[in-house]
Amino acid sequence: MSQEEQPGTQLGEAKVRCDACPVMCIIKPGMTGACDRYANRAGELIRVDPHILLERTVLKDGGLVPFSQPADWDGTILPPPDRFVTAIGAGTTYPDYKPAPFIVSSEVDGVDMVTVVTEGIFSYCGVKVKIDTDRFVGPETNAVRVAGEIVGHVTTGEYGSQMLSLGGVHHLTGGSKKEGRVACQALLDLCNGGAVEMHVDAGATLVVQAGHPPIVNGTTEQRMRVGCGSATIGIFARQWLGKVDEVVVVDDHITGVLSEHQAGKLLDIPPTGIRLKGRRSTPGRYFQVAEPGTGWGGTNISDPLDILGPFDPKTAFPGLRLLMVSTTGEHSGYYELDESLVPVAKAMPTDLVGPVDKIAENCEPAMCTVLFVGGAGGSLRAGVTDNPVRLTRSVKEALTKVTSGGAPVYLWPGGGITFMVDVTRLPANAFGYVPTPALVAPIEFTLRLDDYEALGGHMDHVRPLTSLGDTGRRQVAPHAENPWPFARGVADRRPS
Ligand code: SF4
Repeated sequence: MSQEEQPGTQLGEAKVRCDACPVMCIIKPGMTGACDRYANRAGELIRVDPHILLERTVLKDGGLVPFSQPADWDGTILPPPDRFVTAIGAGTTYPDYKPAPFIVSSEVDGVDMVTVVTEGIFSYCGVKVKIDTDRFVGPETNAVRVAGEIVGHVTTGEYGSQMLSLGGVHHLTGGSKKEGRVACQALLDLCNGGAVEMHVDAGATLVVQAGHPPIVNGTTEQRMRVGCGSATIGIFARQWLGKVDEVVVVDDHITGVLSEHQAGKLLDIPPTGIRLKGRRSTPGRYFQVAEPGTGWGGTNISDPLDILGPFDPKTAFPGLRLLMVSTTGEHSGYYELDESLVPVAKAMPTDLVGPVDKIAENCEPAMCTVLFVGGAGGSLRAGVTDNPVRLTRSVKEALTKVTSGGAPVYLWPGGGITFMVDVTRLPANAFGYVPTPALVAPIEFTLRLDDYEALGGHMDHVRPLTSLGDTGRRQVAPHAENPWPFARGVADRRPS
């Protein structure tokens, strides 16, 4: 448990008042506050969760190995560039005129740097969810519910994915108390890597978990489509050549027809007299061949022949070979025209099995992606500097690097410091909550020490990295795909 520089006021009977957020819990000895982040230990307010430090490498048996378990650490203070102080478990200061919980200096490549860390309380936050599936999850703008409460809505269908926008101020604080509580819990679970079941009005029941396949109406999605129907034609046209007369790639977005498609033209594939329902966009590309659904290619059809009209008798011929396939290769069927030019299902020829399997092989695993979105452009900045707008400008000018639990963030252009972070890039259980309701997310600002002084930083609270004790701290290895937070870039961009 971290005990340094924690907020709180001692009251009578060994009670303490936590002043780390507006709830101002009065906590009895041995109890925790409403958020379970702070506790009263023998009349002293302590932060319950360990404070997380990232350790890049340690020396072991003569070699450099990643830090994996706290037990691996022998207590040795490592050179500062190999250690990064995250905000996870660092605590919060409230109101924000107080300096952030930790303002830590270190030397990196001969440059004096400072990292300011705080667990920000985000009443204005949400998550953007990307669900890799073509299956219809529900109409755009329809409500997404958890336990019956509206927590967000469906946004757009993107390339092989369905997007949800969850949380945000209107659900956290703008609705009923229950709506806010349920929305906050759903966001917390998603951000900490938990599975959340949700239902879309007039749509599907989903189970969403960051880094895991989505479950749509009880079916675990296996593959993200290789491309739209037209792209699939373009990718695989040559591999079908000579093995079949016509190919239709069924897709709710763009259904492709080989003989009409530019790829088929360039390969001299003759017309087949095929007719498709739906709206023809450009040659060999059809929109709206069916309604959206959970069947073939994200349509509502289970029999692909439903999207075909009668073949043109002037061009089609008995025995014409037709392959119909979906954009993931999950569905496929082979047909030959009978004497009446009606497609009749037949066994898939062996030389077509490989090309169909190759569609599936080229699909990436279907995944749920959860991005936390929070705005740090408000009062949180006052914990960094007494002139908050300078921090915003410093971030915009790339003089200050922003990380969340040591993970890289995407900063939105425009006003404020609105950032997005992939929740799978943070150490486990990096997010918390307070019952206002709001999410608690780690945020770190790293910049040159002289820049920090120039923007009005709390210089009298700067402490060296080596001064941090080990009690209440846990060392973890950074995510393998994350750039090291001290990586060159911040100090380099300062105008000379
Ligand atoms: S909810 Fe948590 S942070 Fe807020 S006052 Fe209570 S114990 Fe402190």
